[in-house]
Amino acid sequence: MSTSLQGRHASGCQGQTQAESYGSSDKMTSRVDFIQYCDEIVSQLGAKPNLLKILLTDPMLFLKLFFGPSLSNQYRLQGPHSWEGSREAIMTSEDRMILMASSAKKIAVIGGGFAGLYALVTLKEEGGFEMVCFEKTDSPGGTWRYREEVEEGISSIMPTTIINHSKEMGAISNFPPPKECPNFMRHHELHQYELSIAKKADVLKYIRYNMEALAVKRADDYEETGRWIVEVRNTISGEKFMDIYDGVMVCIGQFNRPIIPSYPDQELFKGKIMHTHSLKGVEPYRDKTVVVVGMGCSALDAAVETSNVAKQVYLSTRSGAHVLTRVGPHGYPYDWTLIRRWIFLLFLLPRNFVSWILEHVYLDPQFDHNIYNVKPKHHILSKDPVINDHIGSKLLSGLVVMKPDIRCFTEDGVIFEGDTEVTKADVIIMATGYQWKFPFLEDGIIVQDEGRINLYKLIFPVHLKHSTLAVIAFVLPFGPGFPIGELQCRWVVQVLAGNCQLPSKDAMLQDVKDRHKRNAESYAPSDKMTLRVDFIQYCDEIASQFGAKPNLLKILLTDPMLFLKLFFGPSLSYQYRLQGPHSWKGAREAIMTSEDRMMYPLTKRRPKKKLVNIFELIFKKLLRLLFF
Ligand SMILES: Cc1cc2nc3c(=O)[nH]c(=O)nc-3n(C[C@H](O)[C@H](O)[C@H](O)COP(=O)(O)OP(=O)(O)OC[C@H]3O[C@@H](n4cnc5c(N)ncnc54)[C@H](O)[C@@H]3O)c2cc1C
Repeated sequence: MSTSLQGRHASGCQGQTQAESYGSSDKMTSRVDFIQYCDEIVSQLGAKPNLLKILLTDPMLFLKLFFGPSLSNQYRLQGPHSWEGSREAIMTSEDRMILMASSAKKIAVIGGGFAGLYALVTLKEEGGFEMVCFEKTDSPGGTWRYREEVEEGISSIMPTTIINHSKEMGAISNFPPPKECPNFMRHHELHQYELSIAKKADVLKYIRYNMEALAVKRADDYEETGRWIVEVRNTISGEKFMDIYDGVMVCIGQFNRPIIPSYPDQELFKGKIMHTHSLKGVEPYRDKTVVVVGMGCSALDAAVETSNVAKQVYLSTRSGAHVLTRVGPHGYPYDWTLIRRWIFLLFLLPRNFVSWILEHVYLDPQFDHNIYNVKPKHHILSKDPVINDHIGSKLLSGLVVMKPDIRCFTEDGVIFEGDTEVTKADVIIMATGYQWKFPFLEDGIIVQDEGRINLYKLIFPVHLKHSTLAVIAFVLPFGPGFPIGELQCRWVVQVLAGNCQLPSKDAMLQDVKDRHKRNAESYAPSDKMTLRVDFIQYCDEIASQFGAKPNLLKILLTDPMLFLKLFFGPSLSYQYRLQGPHSWKGAREAIMTSEDRMMYPLTKRRPKKKLVNIFELIFKKLLRLLFF
C-alpha cells in the first residue's frame, strides 16, 4: 500500500500534480481535491453520476449537481446500493441547511387542541424551529375530539354539540372550509377541519401523545438566554422526562376545570349534583325532574337537550342573559350579519347606546327577553350573549321553566329565591363555568393583580425578562375564537423568531392596565374580565403587531371592490393574509367568494341575485312597522 502511494507521489502523473499543487510536506501524498477524488473513487464502482444523461432527463437535478454544493447523496443516484431518496435529499438540502442554521430555537408546545395544532402549523410555516408538542391525551384536537370519558383538565362536549360560530367567520386565514361543510359544524366536522389543517401542514408528527406537562420553570441560565425547563410525564408508563427549550407556547384551553358552587344545605340533597362538564347523553334524565343552574351556552344546551326526555326542566338563573339564535336576519348565520367593520364602528358611540340598538332592533323582534323573563340587568355588550336556537320554543311549550337563583337545597329538591315551596328535583346540573389554571407553570408567571391578569395583549406575562413564553387562546371574544388563536400564534412565532420585539416592561404593564380599565368600564365584573375582547378590534390589534393588518386606505384606492367587502361585509380572517409575513395569494379570492361557500350547503349552487327594488323594500319595512 505504502509502496503504491509512494509510487503515485514520485513517478505517476498524479504524483507530479500533487507535488506541483501542494508543495512539499510529510503528508503531501494524501492530499486530494474533494470532488475529483470522490468522482475518481465512485467511478471505480459505477456510482459516479452520469451528468450528461441527467442533463437530458432531469435538468433541475443537473442544475443542483453542477451549480449547487457537491453532496454525497449524488453518489447514490446510480450504481450498487443506489438509494431512492437521493434525488430528494439533493433537492432539499438547502431547506435542511437553513433549518440547521437556526435550530437553536427549540420550542415546546403544550397541548394539542386547536391552539396547539395551529402553533405547530405557524412554527413550521416560519421555519427554523425545532418543535415538539406535548398532549396529555392519546389524540389531537382538544375540545373537538369527542370522548365519552370525562376528566378534569380536559374539556368536554356533548354528543350533540354544534359550534356557535359559522364556518366562514371561524375559518383559518389560509384554509377556507370546504364549501360542502354546513355553516354551523357539528363537533366531528369541526374536528375534521382542525385535522385537515394539521395534516396539510404535516405537523401531527411533532405531537407526543400521552405526555402531560408537569412543570415549566425558568432554566438556570434564563436571565441570559430566556430558556425554560419543561418536565413531562408519560401518562401510561409514568416515566418522567425533562428538557430545555428556547420557547414555550402554552395551549391548554380554559374550559376544563368545572366550578361547582355551594348553596345552603346542599349536602342534604339526596339526588344527583353534577356539572355540564360531565353531561354526555340525555338518557339518564328520562322522566326525571332536572334543575339546570346557569344561563350560559352550556346551560341552555343542557336545558334544551334534557327537556327532550325529562319530566320537567327548570332553568335557574341569577342574572338572565341575552339570547341569540344561530339563524340571523333573513336566515343568514347571525355572526355573518353582525361581525362587520361598519357595525363595529358603532362601538365608537357610547356602549350603552349601541347595546340599546342591538337589544331593541336586533334581538327583541326575534325573542322579547322581557316576556320570557330572561332579560338580564347588564347590557348586551357587557357580557357574551348566549347562543341557542330552541330555548324560545322550549319555554313556550313549558318543557323548560325559568326560575330565579337557588336559595337552598332540601333532601328532595331546592327552594328558589322568592318561593316558599320546595321544587322537587332528581338531578341538579350546574352550568356554572370553569376556573382557569396553569398548574404546571412556575409560581408567579401568570399572576392576577388587583383583578387584572397581567398578560401583555393577553399572551405574554409582562414581568418576565424574555418574551419566550406565550399563552395562546386565553381570551373571551365577542366572536369566534379560532381566528384570534391563529393571529396570536402568528405573532408569537414572529416574536420567537426575533422578527418582532415587545416593548419595555413598563409599557406592557401600562397596556394591561389600560385594557383592564376599559374592560371594567364596559363589561360586567368577573374573574376573567381582563380576558374580554371585541372581536374586530382585538384581531386588528394583534395583526398590526406583525404587519398583517390590512391597509384599508390603500385597498380603498387600489381595489375598491375588495374594500367594500372588507368594510361592509363580514369580517373574515382571510383579510389578515392580504399583507405581512406569510401573506397568501388566495386571500382576496377567499374574501370575494366567501358568500358562495356560505350559501353552497343550503342551495348547492350560487343563488340568483335578486335586484333590490327600493320601493318594495320601503313598503315591506312599513308593513313590518305596522304589523310586527
Ligand atoms: C362545550 C364547549 C363549547 C364550545 N364552543 C365553542 C364555540 O362554539 N366557538 C368557539 O370559538 N369556541 C368554543 N369553545 C371553546 C373551545 O375551547 C375552543 O373552540 C378551542 O377548542 C380551544 O382550543 P384550545 O386548543 O385552546 O383548547 P382545548 O381544545 O381545550 O385543547 C387543550 C389541549 O391541551 C391538552 N392539555 C391540557 N393540559 C395539558 C398538560 N398539562 N399537558 C399536556 N397537554 C395538556 C388537553 O388534553 C387538550 O387536548 C367551546 C368549548 C366548550 C367546552
